[in-house]
Amino acid sequence: MDKLFKNVINIFNEACKTADIGKTIHTILKQPKNELIVNFPVRMDSGEMKLFKGYRIQHNNILGPYKGGFRFHPQVNLDEVKGLAMLMTLKCSLADLPFGGAKGGVKFNPKDHSESEMERITRRFVHALGNNIGPNFDIPAPDMGTSAQTMNWMMDTYLNTSGSLERQCLKGVVTGKSVKVGGTKGRAQATGYGVVMCIEEWAKQHNYDLSQKTFIIQGFGKVGSWAAKRLDSLGAKVIAVNDCAGTLYMKDGIPIRQLTEHIQNKGSLEDFMGQELLSREDFFSMKADVMIPAALENQIGEEEARMAQVELIAEGANGPINNKADAILEERGIAVIPDILANSGGVIVSYFEWLQNRSNDYWHEHHVLEKLHDKITQAYHIVHDLSIELNVSKREAAYIRALKNIDEVYTERGIFP
Ligand code: GLU
Repeated sequence: MDKLFKNVINIFNEACKTADIGKTIHTILKQPKNELIVNFPVRMDSGEMKLFKGYRIQHNNILGPYKGGFRFHPQVNLDEVKGLAMLMTLKCSLADLPFGGAKGGVKFNPKDHSESEMERITRRFVHALGNNIGPNFDIPAPDMGTSAQTMNWMMDTYLNTSGSLERQCLKGVVTGKSVKVGGTKGRAQATGYGVVMCIEEWAKQHNYDLSQKTFIIQGFGKVGSWAAKRLDSLGAKVIAVNDCAGTLYMKDGIPIRQLTEHIQNKGSLEDFMGQELLSREDFFSMKADVMIPAALENQIGEEEARMAQVELIAEGANGPINNKADAILEERGIAVIPDILANSGGVIVSYFEWLQNRSNDYWHEHHVLEKLHDKITQAYHIVHDLSIELNVSKREAAYIRALKNIDEVYTERGIFP
């Protein structure tokens, strides 16, 4: 079993015990409802045909249509996607969204392909999925390696292969589209901003002046870069960023706008303002106030948990801390704001996009961000209060709250037949 799915299941089992979740619900949720794997051929620029493997895991839909991102990455595999799909079920339930949970992906490296190959891969994948997605059934969104452009192609392919009479009301088949083609303002920054909104609530509770604090961020993609921008606007200092090239460290604070431009042009931290990069270990052992892992899962294991020198870790990524590391961090008094809470800003604003698509409406950016703030801070306080009441970690409290919601719906609806 892949580590991520096992890690998620371990916390799920614990939470079910603490929350007294019935055996039937436990049995239903411990595996996804549907596991779809498609192999589809795509013509490369050279004329050669290549076969790609794509996944869509639909974990649960008791609360509403399946919802969750598509990842394009060489590490994509069935168990990883199963773990991520289960996290989506919990994330949507915790945020009180009328959505279930799903995740998908295609196993390949986007860096190896031209723009036109990316377009054909995306379109063929959507075609291969056929009616397994839809605005009232399963609604994909961006994740690692996918973007608003990917979503635009997906929507366009889906609409073009649907009957022309209903075409105009199907835009909500994917969220995270660019604003011009039916996306929402505020979606691009939603996940990163949401992470920082949670940190701001934590800071208020701990009398912590963020403008005096130092931050380190792993990953400078969609989540990490927007989190950095919001921190910058609050006057906080980001002193280190880590990616696959190494660790950029600038003790007086990294200029965020310049780094964003650099990453957009060069694709990595290499050669930024003539700085030598440090190692991955240097990043995880760096003394700072807050760490934001915003890259892949399983980045913080026992070793990293022992060397960490921060007060708080806010999980921008899904599943960055494994079970053993979680226990070590708790023992060492390092606080954690868990993924299904900290990074829920993305799917919350996806929900707003879906609502706007249903009513052909366009909301102002400040309205979207205000509603995001209300929703995520409310979830933060529910999790915080529950963790105190039950004397459990914030992660377990978040799982418990999410599972209780689902349990109540199953109990009131009953189970067919
Ligand atoms: N991929 C994002 C996540 O892991 C967003 C999902 C969505 O917007 O549906 O939460």
